[in-house]
Amino acid sequence: MERIVILGPPGAGKGTQALLLCEKLGVPHISTGEILRNAVSNETKLGLEAKQYMDRGELVPDEVVIGLVRERLSEPDCDTGYLLDGFPRTLEQAKELDVILKEIGKEVTVVLELQVPEQALLDRIKNRAAEGSGRSDDNVEVASNRLRVYWEQTAPVTAYYEEHLSVEKVDGIGTVEEVTQRIAEVFEESSS
Ligand code: AMP
Repeated sequence: MERIVILGPPGAGKGTQALLLCEKLGVPHISTGEILRNAVSNETKLGLEAKQYMDRGELVPDEVVIGLVRERLSEPDCDTGYLLDGFPRTLEQAKELDVILKEIGKEVTVVLELQVPEQALLDRIKNRAAEGSGRSDDNVEVASNRLRVYWEQTAPVTAYYEEHLSVEKVDGIGTVEEVTQRIAEVFEESSS
């Protein structure tokens, strides 16, 4: 059974790879960004609060996202595994996640990190913005802010995991298929 956290900067292709991997392994895809975007479009209280942060490329407060993830992970479909995409994004979230998972007996088995150099990320961000992805946080200014927030607040999460788990680093440069293949190899190695 796989219980996965996927890490990586915005623009690294995490979302795409996360979906493909979930399909392959048959585990639920838990994306905090997607949960928050749904709340925004449904104009719930959570959505209205989250939107102000998301529109600026900043992080929604820890206690808000931690509460969401706690609820989601206790649902029965997570009994046979899960993949967390976009969470944890701060050290506080990572530590709190460990506490929650210990409580419910669903500790992480694999941490993947998609690695893409900064210049390539900036190029991708500009392309996405130019193509108009439909996401309100995909303009160059907001996306650059997301990148800065990543280096400041999320990059330290990798080092946190490295203290007690091995982090599988995957080169995120190449076609979707190439990256998918590299990720598949991680799982082949861990099951052999
Ligand atoms: P994503 O789709 O993962 O890039 O998330 C889009 C936006 O949702 C982020 O820029 C944040 O504003 C917010 N968000 C998603 N996940 C988290 C999280 N774990 N902690 C705080 N904010 C989050």
